[in-house]
Amino acid sequence: MSTMTKNKSKIDLKNEFCSNENCNDYSKRDTANIVKYGHDKNGKQRFKCKTCGGVFVETKNTIFYNRKLSQDQIILICKLLVEKNGIRAIERITGIHRDTISDVVKDIARHAREVTDFLIEIVGKVPVKRLN
Ligand SMILES: [Zn+2]
Repeated sequence: MSTMTKNKSKIDLKNEFCSNENCNDYSKRDTANIVKYGHDKNGKQRFKCKTCGGVFVETKNTIFYNRKLSQDQIILICKLLVEKNGIRAIERITGIHRDTISDVVKDIARHAREVTDFLIEIVGKVPVKRLN
């Protein structure tokens, strides 16, 4: 099949940031240092940092990288954590296995700085209440 459906997901360069910890623009957003740089073999958008020359894949080094869960599910877990739910409670609410949830929790701890920025930006935009 030659008609490959290109995943034209809207990529906002303002939300991407350099994941090279040694870069002057590490984890800074909206500094115009990030440019699109083709795709990797899985079709993921790649980016290049003009500051350090580093190339990275979309969402690399974030809690959303290489996960079984969708971004919405991860955001939901984050929100439930913020509301002081335990892992077992989150498992009940979301139906996601507690091992998967604790992986997310570990990742959140590892990427605390980025995650905090991200949550401040994103969580406010997503409605919390799924209960009707
Ligand atoms: Zn960089």
